Amino acid sequence: MKTIRLRAHPTLSSRDLETAVSLLLGGQLVAIPTETVYGLAADLFQPAAIQKIFTTKGRPADNPLIAHISSMRQLERIAERPHPLLLKMAERFWPGPLTLIFERKETVPPIVSAHLPTIAVRMPSHPCARQLIHSIDSPLAAPSANLSGRPSPTSAADVLEDFDGAIPAIIDGGPCAFGIESTVIGMIDDQFVLLRPGAIDRAAIENEIKITLIDPPRRGPILSPGMKYRHYAPKAKIRLVDSADRESSSATDGSVYVLEDLGAQNLYSHLRNADRLGYSEIVICLNDSIRQSEALMNRLQRACGEVHG
Ligand code: AMP
Ligand code: MG
Repeated sequence: MKTIRLRAHPTLSSRDLETAVSLLLGGQLVAIPTETVYGLAADLFQPAAIQKIFTTKGRPADNPLIAHISSMRQLERIAERPHPLLLKMAERFWPGPLTLIFERKETVPPIVSAHLPTIAVRMPSHPCARQLIHSIDSPLAAPSANLSGRPSPTSAADVLEDFDGAIPAIIDGGPCAFGIESTVIGMIDDQFVLLRPGAIDRAAIENEIKITLIDPPRRGPILSPGMKYRHYAPKAKIRLVDSADRESSSATDGSVYVLEDLGAQNLYSHLRNADRLGYSEIVICLNDSIRQSEALMNRLQRACGEVHG
């Protein structure tokens, strides 16, 4: 299959929009830019298209997808009895990198949620993602557009590295603004749970909504199946060191990829770059700003192979 490349500046021309919309309505996959990472999108209401996402990514069937919407009317089509405080979070942080877990409407194909009774939803802010969702007038299911287990893609070139020839089209919207996935919040009884730290800080949500976010319980059923997989991993082995120990901790002969200027925006592109250049080891120097980012520390620990739950 030849992968068509479309360009968004920051939205698609009407001709390219028509191409992308007809592929999606025809049950095909299109890789799209979002403000977090690139997504591999399919029409939420076509189970056969959703199945293609799982097959193409090699994604475990028990790892549910996020529904991307462009209006609150679309939320009503897929979520049942939304909790008022979840709606308040939506009002405050959408469009943007916050994913909220709602009760799933029965009309939503269960495969989207890996047969959970819930559905993860977010309204992206990227103009092209919004243009597409609005045009097909249906939510798009879209996990990150990488082969399962590989670092998430933050540019069109990253997506093509994994999927050139395997998907019908990709929309190039340039580099992603955040470069790290959305924050995911779910509920246990009446409590709000931070299921995945991400682009929006825990403190911003707590302060704005006046709630306390609890961590997922370590025992009992897994609330967010995705978190049990080793994600975000490059082929190279990763070692985290303190910035102060950098000299003594890495070889000086150039055999180690040393990363000193790490931020959420460049984490995944560095991990992919190290693989592309054939390094077998990556040394990441931790400084205070990295240590203070819950999302970055979470991705680094998982890239090192530490998996909880
Ligand atoms: P990705 O789309 O690859 O960024 O991953 C989506 C994340 O959202 C994974 O960690 C999933 O486990 C999580 N997720 C999606 N749907 C649900 C749901 N219904 N309940 C809990 N977590 C979910
Ligand atoms: Mg992913």
